[in-house]
Amino acid sequence: MTEAARRRTFAVISHPDAGKSTLTEALALHARAITSAGAVHGKGDRRGVASDWMEMEKARGISVTSAVLQFSHRDQVLNLLDTPGHADFSEDTYRVLAAVDCAVMLIDAAKGLEEQTRKLFDVCRHRGIPVITFVNKWDRPGREALELMDEIESEFRLRPTPVTWPVGIAGDLRGLIDVRDPEHMLRYTRMPGGSKEAAEETVPAARAAAEEGEDWERASEELELLGESGGLHDPEAFLAGKSTPVFFGAALSNIGVRLLLDAVVDLAPAPAARELADGGRQPVDAPFSGLVFKMQANMDRSHRDRIAFVRVCSGVFERGMTVTRAASGRPFATKYAHSVFGQDRSSVETAYPGDVVGLVNAASLRVGDTLYDGPRVEFPPMPTFAPEHFSVVRPVDIGRSKQFRRGIAQLDEEGVVQVLVSDVRGEQAPVLAAVGPMQFDVVQHRMEFEFSAPVKLEPLAYSVARATDTAGGEALNRSRLVHGEAMVRVKDQVVLALFPSRWHVSSFEREFPDHPLEPLIAAH
Ligand code: GDP
Repeated sequence: MTEAARRRTFAVISHPDAGKSTLTEALALHARAITSAGAVHGKGDRRGVASDWMEMEKARGISVTSAVLQFSHRDQVLNLLDTPGHADFSEDTYRVLAAVDCAVMLIDAAKGLEEQTRKLFDVCRHRGIPVITFVNKWDRPGREALELMDEIESEFRLRPTPVTWPVGIAGDLRGLIDVRDPEHMLRYTRMPGGSKEAAEETVPAARAAAEEGEDWERASEELELLGESGGLHDPEAFLAGKSTPVFFGAALSNIGVRLLLDAVVDLAPAPAARELADGGRQPVDAPFSGLVFKMQANMDRSHRDRIAFVRVCSGVFERGMTVTRAASGRPFATKYAHSVFGQDRSSVETAYPGDVVGLVNAASLRVGDTLYDGPRVEFPPMPTFAPEHFSVVRPVDIGRSKQFRRGIAQLDEEGVVQVLVSDVRGEQAPVLAAVGPMQFDVVQHRMEFEFSAPVKLEPLAYSVARATDTAGGEALNRSRLVHGEAMVRVKDQVVLALFPSRWHVSSFEREFPDHPLEPLIAAH
């Protein structure tokens, strides 16, 4: 219980370029990195180890491996799980959110809420994950602070409750007011000699007022306004996903980062009892249980291996213990457990609730699996997320259709892609559905090298999926007015209605008001 209470397990959700890698490095700089699990990002001259799991990853210079960084801050242990973005945005990015207790939503001060942030936020909301907001790049011209608060409130129906507030507009940051101590201003001065880290100084209110004049006055007024409209941090509303504490800063100059790190320790929840499939809850002090939230296949033919990323949910994990896989009731030996992935693996001996361990030789495990020691427990299945990319898949060599079918079925079962079939196209031409196009590359690679059945993919011009019922699917397939197509997801038999755009969704709804379409998780 003591170790669990010390853990904070979180992820940063953001749109590419908002500054996630910069913030991650800044957090690690303040905190003491215990282990650095693989690459934060394999970009440019960034420090961090590029993962060597996949050939195409090297070719593209992106990190596919979901890295986990562990730091300590004020005697707490922070586990920061990476949410791959850019070209490597995929269903795995969403699955990472099944393994965290809190998310930091990173917003570019000039851009506000962006597409990928919206999608990731939707998943947080669906899973009831509390969100802390960090408005980044306040050292550059951007939008007004109040305007950004309005955007969060109106778009996400999430009440922003600033914990820090900027003195000076974006691009002219004079300092920050910590709302809990409005009698002072935190001033940041760039260090001479090109050091990235700005020095922090605490300035009493009277002096700040005299020195910053209008900027101070304006910030104080804005804060008062926010206070009157109920905009102060409310722990209960935050944990219920109804409000978000907001921080301002500039990750690049390390401004506001310490306050954010303190917030993760002070405000984010520690690992708590987790819901079970049977409706019960698994307390953190129960015997060991863990959730497989990501599987990583090694593409190296001479070293074909699977690594399972497991979030410890209860009890103590000890390397070498034999656990049970709930889905099959079969034992799984954890002789090789790693806390560090990528090139630099190191063994983990003990892990506590909130920690992530990597299990190698895990070909028998699947995403969503529960592992346990002691009485049988099982967590609810991992949700399937709304796909946005669709391709018909066919074997290059018709003579290898048996290997083709076997391979596609296994990749579906592993959760690498979703497989759909339609009456119109027949079972011979399944359709692959993915959250990010890179999932197709993985399929192509594995079909060729692992199942010896190279495939051709033919993209379909759909980008929106909604759930419907059989009658709704039939109506769509018969309709000549609405362009779209219905297919059945093999895994769970859900009927998906696919459309080229949201406009087509609306026209279906107008045409067939009796067949409602349900948004899927993370649907836009
Ligand atoms: P990611 O794609 O979200 O990981 O974003 P990066 O961390 O790679 O940052 C994208 C760009 O924004 C880089 O050029 C960073 O140097 C820059 N950047 C990140 N944080 C800040 C900041 O606080 N201020 C300024 N001016 N630039 C920043």
